[in-house]
Amino acid sequence: MFIFQEKSALKEYLSPFISANKSIGFVPTMGAIHEGHLSLMKNSIAENDLTVVSIFVNPNQFNNQEDLKKYPRTLEKDTNLIASLSEDIIIFAPSVEEIYGNNSTAQSFDYDGLESHMEGANRPGHFDGVGTILTILFELIRPTKSYFGEKDFQQLQIVKKLVKKHNIPVKIIGCPIFRHENGLAMSSRNERLSEKGKQEATFIYEVLQQAKSNFTKLSISELINWVSTKFEEKPHIHLEYFEIADEDTLATATTKEENKKYRGFIVAHIENVRLIDNIALY
Ligand code: AMP
Repeated sequence: MFIFQEKSALKEYLSPFISANKSIGFVPTMGAIHEGHLSLMKNSIAENDLTVVSIFVNPNQFNNQEDLKKYPRTLEKDTNLIASLSEDIIIFAPSVEEIYGNNSTAQSFDYDGLESHMEGANRPGHFDGVGTILTILFELIRPTKSYFGEKDFQQLQIVKKLVKKHNIPVKIIGCPIFRHENGLAMSSRNERLSEKGKQEATFIYEVLQQAKSNFTKLSISELINWVSTKFEEKPHIHLEYFEIADEDTLATATTKEENKKYRGFIVAHIENVRLIDNIALY
């Protein structure tokens, strides 16, 4: 297993693969690796000659400094987990200075409005930070395909838009949400929950599933009210938003239209941990 911390060393290592037209699969992560991340890596290994995983907690995509400070950093555990999947994966784990020097300010990106909803609206600057780091990593690694989880569905759509608008020659592959047996979506942030909190968090996916089965029976506004009422019954869980949006444009849906695909998007807080999930409503 190779672990690189410097851009120049990684570039030098990848250069012969790129010259030989080998396919490179790339999985960007912020570490605290779990099975959700590993499922992306498995897809990449199956479809490419070489897989590169980055582990980098990108400061400029955090709008909340406390969240950035508390984000789990577990590099040794992460590399062991990745090695248990494959010894051939290349890990890139740079420092903030290595990526940004002494200026980690994010660039501005225009994703044709995809950024103005949900996470974009609730976490100002977040998708500018995502665009900034991905542009740097795509340029450095030059992947053939790059793998993103549907867990961050808005991010997935935004990354597709980013590469299209900037003509970055990489195919973006969306991968299904990997869940614990009890339905809770795997997340690095789950590590900050107590056992009780993890148990309570299963409520999020339960409500999403019920929302899906109610989708044909209720109007959009009725469904949204139904979800907020369900959360009012849970004093330890704070619902930040539940929104139904068109899967392609991410525009908030107010009525249901034929031939459109809708998703329910949710963010809830338990024990001061922000948890995100979504479900296809078709
Ligand atoms: P993160 O380290 O949280 O930035 O996530 C890195 C990548 O893994 C992103 O593309 C996420 O959407 C994806 N990911 C995180 N959790 C899951 C999950 N439970 N299932 C599938 N993909 C995930």
